[in-house]
Amino acid sequence: MRQQADRRIVVVGAGQAGGRVCAELRSRGSDRPIVMIGDEPVPPYERPPLSKAVLLGLAQPTDALVNPAGFYAAHDIDLLSGMRVTAIDRSNRRVVCSDGSKIVFDRLILATGLTPRRLAASGGDLPGVLYLRTASDAHELRRQITGARPRVAIVGGGPIGLEVAASARQLGLDVTVIEQTPRCLGRLMPEKSARTIERLHAERGVKIISSQGVRAVHGVQRVESLVLDSGKVIPADLVVVGVGSVANDDLARVSGLATGQGIVVDAHCRTSDPAIYAIGDVAVRLNAWCGGPTRLESWDNAESQARVVASHITDQTSCTEGIPWFWTDQYDWNVQVVGVPRAAHKPVARVIEPGRKEIHFYLDGRVPRSAVLFNAGSERRAVAAILAAGKPCPDVLLQDIGVSLKGLA
Ligand SMILES: Cc1cc2nc3c(=O)[nH]c(=O)nc-3n(C[C@H](O)[C@H](O)[C@H](O)COP(=O)(O)OP(=O)(O)OC[C@H]3O[C@@H](n4cnc5c(N)ncnc54)[C@H](O)[C@@H]3O)c2cc1C
Repeated sequence: MRQQADRRIVVVGAGQAGGRVCAELRSRGSDRPIVMIGDEPVPPYERPPLSKAVLLGLAQPTDALVNPAGFYAAHDIDLLSGMRVTAIDRSNRRVVCSDGSKIVFDRLILATGLTPRRLAASGGDLPGVLYLRTASDAHELRRQITGARPRVAIVGGGPIGLEVAASARQLGLDVTVIEQTPRCLGRLMPEKSARTIERLHAERGVKIISSQGVRAVHGVQRVESLVLDSGKVIPADLVVVGVGSVANDDLARVSGLATGQGIVVDAHCRTSDPAIYAIGDVAVRLNAWCGGPTRLESWDNAESQARVVASHITDQTSCTEGIPWFWTDQYDWNVQVVGVPRAAHKPVARVIEPGRKEIHFYLDGRVPRSAVLFNAGSERRAVAAILAAGKPCPDVLLQDIGVSLKGLA
């Protein structure tokens, strides 16, 4: 028994990164005992459908599992669902669980994700003010959005806010997006690309109010309206808040690991304690593409950091760092961002089908550094290869749809 504990890997957080690291450890031949502890009552599932297919009623929140049902038992992984880890006892190499049990580890992997930032406005906790992170959030949002609540206000014009806006419009609701900065998606893409997405929403009847914060939420039994900084009142039957996130790094911080807007890790995703790793939305890792330590919130980042840790634990090698990539689906549009677009970089557009299928490259001088692909996902690998090559490329070649992107890397 003691021998087993001496080799045990404990994973805290049963989400995208936690589920994937278990699968990667087994596929790389690790026969160590694995215990995964997650505070949600269900096995790891993918979150991207929550704001899209699930909200539209086309899928259930946990239809898309990270690993098939039965995977954990079949691979001798103890999955403790509905259990929270409340502390890390580093000196005794064990975690403390919400039921008081203590589990010894040889390696610990923290994959605790993030928590949506709360709306800092009076009345922000009224019934009808909702957030979207978990399957249970999605279930409640779907219930309320389809329950004769015709006016939806979305606070925050980030990807989740805009995905919810698109789904709500597709359900025939009246949708207003309130964005505090001058434009939506400001953290994720430069103006040219962001405006394309704003236009997409405007054409479908979404009202976008920018450069306005929310001063108060009003209502008696539940939300009835929002008051903006300007004093303007927006009637709303339902409010969905998407104003950023806070990393779930408290376990790490309290146990003395290095943190700062997340859990700080090295290239192997090791924390300041070499027996403890952190991966996914919670991890802050040096990323050459981002120009410094960065916490990336994307499906791909959770997947790739899980691979980094599994390879480090199994054979002490490290996977190479991939170029950051994420996608968002809004209406019938698929938008993919490769690299880290910067406002200072020059946009060069490759227009494949005007107003629908375009690639916006962003160049540092003559070198393409990032790109936003509108309905052009089949070109993503070719675009990533061009960016990874880091070579100067004439604008005309990027623009000319007669020139294959594959040949430009
Ligand atoms: C609505 C929505 C739509 C998205 N759409 C896209 C998309 O289109 N494209 C894209 O690239 N990315 C998308 N993402 C982002 C992507 O899903 C996340 O980046 C990914 O889930 C991160 O994985 P993770 O394992 O780090 O965190 P999570 O998947 O959040 O998993 C963390 C888990 O840890 C649990 N936990 C936390 N603390 C404890 C504790 N102390 N004890 C036990 N368990 C704990 C949490 O409850 C959670 O279950 C979306 C996210 C959301 C919410």
